[in-house]
Amino acid sequence: MKANWRNILTYLLLILIGIALIAPLFSTETKVKELPFSSFLDQIEQNKIKEVTIAGDIISGVLADKTKFKTHAMNYPNLVPQLREKGITIKVESPVQSNWAWDLFIQLLAPVAFFALFWWLMMRQAQGMSNQAMNFGRANVKPQTGKITITFANVAGVDEAKEELKEIVEFLKTPAKFQALGAKIPKGLLLMGAPGTGKTLLARAIAGEAGVPFFSISGSDFVEMFVGVGASRVRSVFDQAKKQTPSIIFMDEIDAVGRHRGAGFGGGHDEREQTLNQLLVEMDGFDPNTNIIVIAATNRPDILDPALLRPGRFDRQIVLDKPDLKGREDILKIHAKGKPLASDVDLTVVARRTPGFTGADLENVLNEAAILAARVDKKEVTMEEVEEAVDRVMAGPEKKSRVISDREKKIVAYHEVGHAVLSSVLPNADRVHKISVLPRGLALGYTLQLPLEDKYLITKGQAVDQITVMMGGRVAEEMFFSEVTSGAHNDLERATDLAKKMVTEFGMSELGPRTFGRKDRQVFLGRDIAEMKDYSEHTADEIDTEVEKIIMQCYDKAKAVLANNRAKIESIATVLIEKETLENSDLEAALKDLIKPAS
Ligand code: ADP
Ligand code: MG
Ligand code: ZN
Repeated sequence: MKANWRNILTYLLLILIGIALIAPLFSTETKVKELPFSSFLDQIEQNKIKEVTIAGDIISGVLADKTKFKTHAMNYPNLVPQLREKGITIKVESPVQSNWAWDLFIQLLAPVAFFALFWWLMMRQAQGMSNQAMNFGRANVKPQTGKITITFANVAGVDEAKEELKEIVEFLKTPAKFQALGAKIPKGLLLMGAPGTGKTLLARAIAGEAGVPFFSISGSDFVEMFVGVGASRVRSVFDQAKKQTPSIIFMDEIDAVGRHRGAGFGGGHDEREQTLNQLLVEMDGFDPNTNIIVIAATNRPDILDPALLRPGRFDRQIVLDKPDLKGREDILKIHAKGKPLASDVDLTVVARRTPGFTGADLENVLNEAAILAARVDKKEVTMEEVEEAVDRVMAGPEKKSRVISDREKKIVAYHEVGHAVLSSVLPNADRVHKISVLPRGLALGYTLQLPLEDKYLITKGQAVDQITVMMGGRVAEEMFFSEVTSGAHNDLERATDLAKKMVTEFGMSELGPRTFGRKDRQVFLGRDIAEMKDYSEHTADEIDTEVEKIIMQCYDKAKAVLANNRAKIESIATVLIEKETLENSDLEAALKDLIKPAS
């Protein structure tokens, strides 16, 4: 608005000057005849002048033939008596009012002024544009300290994550205490979770809880920018944060810049790569005593460049699951604050109706309900509006697929209990700490699984038990429902993968202690791996047979174990459907007294 007014004023001024410049061309002044002083005197002598105007040293007047004239006279003392003698009217004007100075201005200075103004205007616009470009590097990175009043109390349903983050908050509050003991605090923290699970909220809550400056940039801001701007922006954020330690740098939606570099043909997105490289340089550049913690958030951990997850970078990863029944109720309570709810609104009932909803969805529900109530001039939000709001949010375009029906919930419950029971009774299987009927959000569960060979030595017994646990989901579905679902797709893929590795890489099959196939990592193809077949068709058949044998043995074992614990599975599943998640001591108690396999 302000800038607009300034523009209008400038243009107005420009037009005025333009008029002033052109006006003299049309004015009568141009027809003024410049007379030499001598001929002026002659004209007086010949009685050809009726009237003169004296303004300082300029004398102007009108000749008998109506032509205007003008002449200069310096200290000619006889002039006035001469004029008097001829009876010529004499007017005197003060020299200031004389036109010559103005004329000079118009004729000489105005064009200069005009061009100067024009020039200035052009410069200003050009500069404005380059300023905008410059500002890309700086915008959005203002520290948000003081403004952040959000604390952990504003975030519900993610207790595990909050528990983990308490340590970070402690450190940000009193870094000296930790450093005195030589403790190393992670530099980078990656928050992962489906959209709307509260990643951004939680990051801000950490800053609010610790009371430190919060510098926030979003990956999506970089995507369409000029090359180099993103990188300079990253640098600027780190520079600013370093001046105000302890502080938090928050990179929201890091997947927008942190994709695998050079994935596929044709290189990658140049700008993105530069930004990512700069981020890595900055993260490696500051030592742990800088007291800066970099928090990043993503809902696509699967596409992140592995370089980001290396030690010393975002090596601490925290998953935000969709909230369970209790979590949803707590979130609803938070967002119900400030909204007058009628006494018939039971948030527990609302929570029960909304499995699969994220924190953002739940906030949306209460907001919709309030709007509905306002529309019909109610003073309070009643259950009627809340119910309708739930339906509306559920019907939302992307929500439809995300909300879980009762039948799905039941199937998922039996599937998960199938896994849990097997992992509990098989001696070499990893224990599960938590089971849930809520989807694990995107590819989260999968990417968190570290590649086996990087993690530890795996024995044959462990490999077999792991595959058996993976079969548990599918087997339970078959046992309790007449049909199977696509839900076991990921389990089967991983089981097949592991079984194949046992045969072709670990030498754990009857084909003997050798590997089959060679893997060449071709750098220029990014992460694509070309597999070279170094065995015959006949061997290929044998490998297939071995893989199948391993999987079927595991499948049969899973079936036998689950069949022995049928009643127990049913009772655990019932509890799980009710509570949606089972963890820690509750889970341990539920998994007690299972019948173990014979061998
Ligand atoms: P994300 O960054 O994971 O996509 P946001 O943090 O932007 O999600 O969440 C959007 C909004 O939804 C938040 O501002 C908050 O009001 C609400 N919300 C999300 N998760 C929670 C939660 N766990 N507790 C309370 N409110 C939440
Ligand atoms: Mg977000
Ligand atoms: Zn499964």
